[in-house]
Amino acid sequence: MKLKFWGTRGSISTPGKHTFRYGGNTPCIELRLGDNELIILDAGTGIRNLGEKLIEDGESIKAYLLISHPHWDHIQGFPFFKPAFVSGNELTIVSGSTEKVSLQKMISDQMNKIYFPIQLNELKATIKFCHVEEEEISVFDATVKTIYVNHPTFAMGYRITHGGKSIVYISDNEPFDQRVARAMRNVEKIIIEKYSRSKSDPNQRIFDFIHNADVLIHDATYTPEEYVDRVGWGHSHYLFTLKAAAEGKVKRLILFHHDPSHNDDKIDDILKTCKKEIRNRHYKFDCLAAAEGMEIEI
Ligand SMILES: [Zn+2]
Repeated sequence: MKLKFWGTRGSISTPGKHTFRYGGNTPCIELRLGDNELIILDAGTGIRNLGEKLIEDGESIKAYLLISHPHWDHIQGFPFFKPAFVSGNELTIVSGSTEKVSLQKMISDQMNKIYFPIQLNELKATIKFCHVEEEEISVFDATVKTIYVNHPTFAMGYRITHGGKSIVYISDNEPFDQRVARAMRNVEKIIIEKYSRSKSDPNQRIFDFIHNADVLIHDATYTPEEYVDRVGWGHSHYLFTLKAAAEGKVKRLILFHHDPSHNDDKIDDILKTCKKEIRNRHYKFDCLAAAEGMEIEI
């Protein structure tokens, strides 16, 4: 499998010279399977550049788009994804939904004519929707396993396994405990139910989900100091991210969903601190910070 990062930034895009190296676009990752089949992880602003490249290459598209959740930073690039405007292309959008709002409505609402000139039903490509809960589905000849992670409203994590290798994508996730659950507003009942069920560490279900992954791409939005004032906002500080990678015995960790207030130098510092923590705690995995344009072969 091959990964290419088109957007690494959380919450809002942050273009400019101080974010040039790690990137200012919101989440989007291109994943290619063995025969070049295309899976796209999230449709943040980074998907616009991916779309330009696909059009430039003249590639006809039959792709799966796995959306972690419908917060703006993960869907706002979709109306600018040019292959969706091309007849003959086919896109299957996979994600969860809430009790009250369907997956299709989540995507179409952001293209409501009050907010956008073109509506979902005007796109020329065939757009299909695949609603998932916690389950395992086939995508091309890969298996995709899903998990509810801890984030306001809801968010899905994905584990993609192909050719004996696994990649886990958890873009937005906060370590769960009862204090966090109380601080978090608008969480789907199913998330509280699933995490409250555990008698030991409720985050063990995340550690089990990522167990032995070759690559873990995980939320590392905050420093531990910043996190203190942001409990319940749905994101991890990097010490939890390191813990998850260690407990899950992953081979490589990629810090993801960089905070919009972190410039390139700050992300360098965070990465340096993480590498020091990994050495001090005798963790075994490799650690990188996601950067726009970065490519990884697994
Ligand atoms: Zn996000």
